[in-house]
Amino acid sequence: MFDRPVVHEGVYFLPLGGTGEIGMNLNVYLHQNKMVMVDCGSMFQDPDGVLKPRPNEFIVPDTAFVEEHRGALEAIVLTHAHEDHIGAILALWHRFPVRLYATTFTAEVLRRKIMRTAEPKFQDILSQIVIVETNVPYQIGPFVISWVPVTHSTLESNALLIETKSHTVLHTGDWKLDAKPVLGPPISTPAALGLHAHSIDSVICDSTNALKPGASVSEYEVFEGLRQTVAKASGRVFVTCFASNVSRLVSIAQVAKDTGRYLAVMGRAFENMISIAKALGYWPNNLKLYSAAEVAYLPEREVLFLVTGSQGESRAALGRLSRGSHQGVDMDADDTVIFSAMRIPGNEIEISRLIANLTAKGVKVLENKTLNCAVHASGHPCQDELQALYQYVKPRIMIPTHGALAHLEKHAELASQWGIKRCLQGLNGDLFQLYPIGKHVPNFTKAERVLLGSP
Ligand SMILES: [Zn+2]
Ligand SMILES: [Zn+2]
Repeated sequence: MFDRPVVHEGVYFLPLGGTGEIGMNLNVYLHQNKMVMVDCGSMFQDPDGVLKPRPNEFIVPDTAFVEEHRGALEAIVLTHAHEDHIGAILALWHRFPVRLYATTFTAEVLRRKIMRTAEPKFQDILSQIVIVETNVPYQIGPFVISWVPVTHSTLESNALLIETKSHTVLHTGDWKLDAKPVLGPPISTPAALGLHAHSIDSVICDSTNALKPGASVSEYEVFEGLRQTVAKASGRVFVTCFASNVSRLVSIAQVAKDTGRYLAVMGRAFENMISIAKALGYWPNNLKLYSAAEVAYLPEREVLFLVTGSQGESRAALGRLSRGSHQGVDMDADDTVIFSAMRIPGNEIEISRLIANLTAKGVKVLENKTLNCAVHASGHPCQDELQALYQYVKPRIMIPTHGALAHLEKHAELASQWGIKRCLQGLNGDLFQLYPIGKHVPNFTKAERVLLGSP
């Protein structure tokens, strides 16, 4: 069915998003004339600045190849609930309407997104979601796929073990090693993944932090950093972070409790995620939440606000607060804002503007680079973690994904130094033959980014 050079018994990896760019991930595996899609993500900014999305638009991968061969697509399998992995599903699913496999948390995030649209056509997606258990093999066409829990910056993140009769792939998804992730099982070494490492032939791996030496910081260290920082503050404290990091939200709520502050939540994204965490039993019952109105008349040093807007979004809570009153809260010179988040490339101007507005009010702005302790941690592996994975698995082939060209190049160079024989490096739209022999076919299909109205 597929054009040459695809052979029936071969095993192939075809990235259509995320390999050569930061921001959205969509991958296809091919075997015996069948396909399975791994993740279906979106992004809000073109890293090359070619596409210029307006506020109601976003960017998705080019799925022309999948649409052309939609009869061969068996399923979409999802690694975790971040937008760069699930963000394009509503916009694209009707072009290739197949089953979606996800763990409970990812499925619930997707379900609530669908419910929020209130559009009947998206309801079809709901009936196609299959909730998977981890470490259980699922036969999906010619592939046997298991979800292997990893630590990352949202709940229920998984690597995928993709087995065929001739070849086994570990598709890492987004991961890090975290001995104390606050929520979910700790993964302090690759051995904790419980893989039959010797049976893995290829590793397709996250390159986000391949340029960074050392290891990522644990979520528990961030909890301690936040506690120290909040304990020193005299007035009100506002903490901003990504809503999808439920461990971080629990840490912030625990910090509020430990430092004698009432936690007020501002922003729908947090309310939605905390509601999911409560529904699925992740939210500790003793951590209480309040509205801005409920804490309005409390002494300043008894309040901690959790606010949206870490990326400088002007309509988010922190943006509004920086410009004046929001929900009856006026910031003043005794207040502290803690950025418990990274600056996503492309948002620097908006974030700098936000910080300038806050500083002009006399508000103290704190982030990792201005502190001696960590108030944010990346969810991706740095070089020591990557090395530990390759030393444990020792695959014959590795392919770096989830990164811009510089990340992929460094990742492949390091893997080669660590003894991996075939490091195949390419870009979206290139075809990688994993079996019978490792081979890279550039420009197999087109993979330009596509601008769409967001659903
Ligand atoms: Zn992620
Ligand atoms: Zn990601």
